[in-house]
Parts: sequence; C-alpha cells; structure tokens
Amino acid sequence: MTAKKYLQTEHKIQLEDIDPDALVVLDVLRGHGFTAYLVGGSVRDLLLGYKPKDYDISTNALPEQVKRLFSGCFLVGKRFRLAHVRIGKKIFEVSTFRSGDNEDDTLIHNDNEWGTEEEDVTRRDFTVNGLYYNNADQTIIDYVGGVEDARKNFLRCIGNPYIRFKQDPVRMIRLLKFRSRFGLTPDEEMIEALFALRTEILKSSPIRILEELLRMLESGSSVPFLKNLQQHGFLETLLPNLAKYFETPHEKEIYTFLTEVDRSILNEDKRPPRRSILVSILLYPIYREIVQDLYDSSPKKAHLGKLQEEAFKLALNSFSPILRITKKILGEVITILSTQYRFTPLQKKKRLICKIPRNRDFSLALKFFKLRTDLEPGLTDIYTEWAYYYDKHKKAEDNGKLPPTSSSRRPRRRRR
Ligand code: ATP
Ligand code: MG
Repeated sequence: MTAKKYLQTEHKIQLEDIDPDALVVLDVLRGHGFTAYLVGGSVRDLLLGYKPKDYDISTNALPEQVKRLFSGCFLVGKRFRLAHVRIGKKIFEVSTFRSGDNEDDTLIHNDNEWGTEEEDVTRRDFTVNGLYYNNADQTIIDYVGGVEDARKNFLRCIGNPYIRFKQDPVRMIRLLKFRSRFGLTPDEEMIEALFALRTEILKSSPIRILEELLRMLESGSSVPFLKNLQQHGFLETLLPNLAKYFETPHEKEIYTFLTEVDRSILNEDKRPPRRSILVSILLYPIYREIVQDLYDSSPKKAHLGKLQEEAFKLALNSFSPILRITKKILGEVITILSTQYRFTPLQKKKRLICKIPRNRDFSLALKFFKLRTDLEPGLTDIYTEWAYYYDKHKKAEDNGKLPPTSSSRRPRRRRR
C-alpha cells in the first residue's frame, strides 16, 4: 500500500500547536537514527481543530532502545508493551511499530509483535486515528484515507468492522467515544456491526472498559457519550444495575449535573473533577432517595455509620457484576456521598455547625457540594460558610497546629 503525503500547506497543522516536549522526544529518537512520528489521538485532534490532551509517538525503536535514550523512561503494559517517557510532569507514550492481522477475528490477548510503519497504522482502530505526523518535514503520512475522512467528519474502521470488533470489542466503546466527542458520522456498516456484536464486549478486560468510561466522564462530552451508551445497549450490558436508575426520573438529574460539568470543562477550560466526584454524580440522586426513605421510615437509623454503609452498598452494587471501581475510588465516593448530610442535614431545623471532620477526603465532599450549589444556588451561603472554615482548618493544619487528617476508610461494623 502506498501512503499519501500531505504537506503543511494542505493539512494546515501548525508546529506551534504541538507540545514542544513531544517534539523533543521525536527529535531525540530521530537523532539516534530511528523513525519516529506523532500518531493517533494528537494528529486526529490537531486535524479536527482540537487541542490534543496527550501525545502518542510511534517508532521503529524497540522499547528497551527507547528506555536507553531517556533518563525518565519506564516500560509498561503486558498486553501492549510500550515505553513511557517522562518529561517534567508530562508522560509521552512511545510504542514500537507493530504488525497485526486484520483478517483474523479471534480475540487479541497479546499485541506485541513488531512490524513496519505501514503495518502499525493498519492495525489501529479508525482511519482518523491511523495517521502519522512527521515533524521533520511537517507532513502527514496517510496509509488509510484518514485525512479525507477527517475532512468529511466521517468515522470509519480500518478494515472490516465485524472482524475488528471481534478482535477487540473495546473498539465498539471507542466508536461511541469518538462519535460523542467530535460529532463524527459513523459508517453505517460499522453501526450494524456494533449492534450485532454488542455482547462481545463482555469478553474484554473490565479494567480497559472502565478506563474508557472514566476517561469519557472526564472528557467534557460525558452526556452525549452516556446517551450513546444507552441508545446502543451498552449501559445495560456493562452496568445493568446503574442502567436501571437511568430508567427513573433520576436520569434527568444525573444529566443536568453532568451537563454542568461538561460545560465547565469545555467552555471554561477547567480541569475535570476527580474520578470519584464524577462517579458520585452518577450515584447521588439515587443515594439521596435511599437515605430519605431510610430517614422517613426511622429517623434514628440515619446516623453517619448507616449513611456510609448505604453509600458503600450503592457504589459497589452499581458497578457490579461486570465492572469494578477501585478501592480508592470506592472509599472516596463513600465519603463524598455520606458527607453531603453534614452540609444539608436530614433534620431541616438542625443548626449548622461547620466542624471540619478529620478525613483527608473531606475536601472532595466539599468540592462535590460546590457542584450542587451550581445547580441549586439556594445552597451557596451554606457552601461559603463551610469553605471559610475549611480554609481556616487547612491553614492550621499546614502550620502544624493540627495533627494530619486520616484518609477515608470503609465503614466498619459498629461494635455493640
Ligand atoms: P484519547 O484522546 O482519548 O487519548 P486516543 O485515540 O489517543 O484518544 P488512546 O487510547 O490514547 O486513544 O490510543 C492512542 C492510539 O492508539 C489511538 O488513536 C489508536 O490509533 C490506537 N488504539 C488505541 N486503542 C486501540 C484499539 N483498541 N485498537 C486499535 N487501535 C487502538
Ligand atoms: Mg491518546
């Protein structure tokens, strides 16, 4: 297959729009006689007019050779071995050209066979993700027709979608991801394959699926993505318990919350909230109902230990039996949800005393409460007061006047 080359005057990507550290990594590799290109998401984003979040690099250098060239480099991944090159706080993923079989529809367990630059792009998922950018002459090297597709806002698989989705069903989630994020029009055959092969997703690693879902919650396009997951039956397949809550009036509230988060990420260029806060958004409306029912039936039962236990059960249940959130996220979600009742107690008449608990995750609960105030401006005064006392508490802690706070723990059984 011959590649089509696009000059800078044709593709219009400006060198200044690329992270200079990514260019350094490319130059070092090339300086040592290797071929090295930007590839994947960053080229696609630049071509579509978005700012890339990260930069992936593809090279003919083997992982160990990359490691020898950079002091801050470590090798990661078993299924897909690659080098992480650290420059300052940034990490650049440097992967070695791989070969791949686009005709064999068996599930890929190990993707570590080295290949040529042409083989490497043809084993990638979508044409817009299969482009190389060569900073040495500022050209785009296109083996798969990705530039034309990007111009037409078209999302197309490299190869036959039925085969490509069977090889790696996570590609179906990625399809919905790129459709939601960039509003690309998907190829019809690809959508047919998606409906036909939906349940194949259950063969994929839950960790990889969860990573794509969490990344999308952080992307600023969480609402269209979740709607796409729902419409194509993936929410039901992957998160059956959570999907049930989306069939109740809670759905509207979850989407209102997420719309606000998406807006602040996209329009105000804010960093996305922490993952535990995003997960808490999905659960909060349901949690509130559970707690209210508990309180209505027996006010005395709604004590902190019980609130934590309910948060724990809900978070665990909503992500099982297929996906599992990490213990760390789980612990933070429990604190975030249960702490909301310090800010807005169940007993409406209760006088508020802003006592800052000795829990490191309290600040996350306060951040979540801030999000609630964005949707319910009536809560702003309460937030301001808590934020004032938290600030004071933090300063005292930083000055060594308070012993450091403990991190959140799973609720323990109460001793009798
Ligand atoms: P994002 O902006 O979310 O990082 P991305 O396309 O860069 O999107 P990555 O997970 O960083 O996604 O992957 C980098 C590149 O690796 C992709 O652009 C694509 O070329 C390739 N790739 C990633 N996942 C797959 C997959 N499951 N199958 C084939 N190629 C993939
Ligand atoms: Mg990427």
